[in-house]
Amino acid sequence: MNAMAEAMKITYRELSVTLRERLRERLERAAQLRCAEHSQPVVAVTIHGRENGWFDSVWTTCCTTLETQAGAIVKSRC
Ligand SMILES: [Zn+2]
Repeated sequence: MNAMAEAMKITYRELSVTLRERLRERLERAAQLRCAEHSQPVVAVTIHGRENGWFDSVWTTCCTTLETQAGAIVKSRC
């Protein structure tokens, strides 16, 4: 884990501690992504909890390519 990976800001909204724990490894991987085009990491993500382990993720990234990559890692269900 490098220092840059710690820089991604994660905000949780109505997400249980259990689901946060389950998501942690996936979010760490998303934090290590770098955009192939802009060499930027993911800036921030907000996770909105829903019912039955589902959640919505809202990403702040340099472009949709990186957002798609990050979303594919984290997916939308714990
Ligand atoms: Zn980019």
